[in-house]
Amino acid sequence: MDKLEQTVAWLKQGLDAYGQDIVLASSFGAEDVVLLDILHQQGLDMRVISLDTGRLPQETYDVMDKWRKKTRLRIDIYFPDASDVEAMVKQDGVNLFYDSIEKRKLCCHVRKILPLKRALSGAKAWVTGLRQEQADSRADMQAIEDDKVFGLKKFNPLIMWTAQDVWDYIQSNDVPYNALHDQFYPSIGCAPCTRAIAVGEDPRAGRWWWEQDDAVAECGLHVSPIKK
Ligand code: SF4
Repeated sequence: MDKLEQTVAWLKQGLDAYGQDIVLASSFGAEDVVLLDILHQQGLDMRVISLDTGRLPQETYDVMDKWRKKTRLRIDIYFPDASDVEAMVKQDGVNLFYDSIEKRKLCCHVRKILPLKRALSGAKAWVTGLRQEQADSRADMQAIEDDKVFGLKKFNPLIMWTAQDVWDYIQSNDVPYNALHDQFYPSIGCAPCTRAIAVGEDPRAGRWWWEQDDAVAECGLHVSPIKK
């Protein structure tokens, strides 16, 4: 079984086991659009959830909208609670994430973690586009594992894919993707917290790049925060 067949098999396994109680969490990055395309092409009826943190780059909104128009998949967008954001900004300002790691984590908590919890409430399993080679912290991940953070089953059907596999798939299947990938953004998050990387830099070096070497380069959506 090749990697694509295995990915389809895991997605079908998730749908067979959980029906409408399994959701794909998508940020419309390269891996996520591969998964969207596989669902679309295979006619797999899996609900898709995504977070609009309020600080996304325009290019992310553009690809989000392309997918909304291209597919019949149900894509539900979740926003942070307005009163939580207002209280945080009143206390620490709009650019608090540059002040300290604690404030950056607070912002991720308000704008990402809490909305994701709401998006996943009622679900029994979720699907991510995580790949093992993306980061040291992901070396021990499994294709199907227990997510202790959210108390759900977690499916990582691209676990074995390399970055080259992802881009080969995107190009062979003419998959709509985030235009920032063509500007040296391998990993895309919120606009103020993501920059392009230089040749030879770690693919995640553009995320929260101002933090020191001992900082964690994850926002808490996935377990096992990593060292940069
Ligand atoms: S990535 Fe930056 S702007 Fe986005 S939620 Fe985290 S700290 Fe806030």
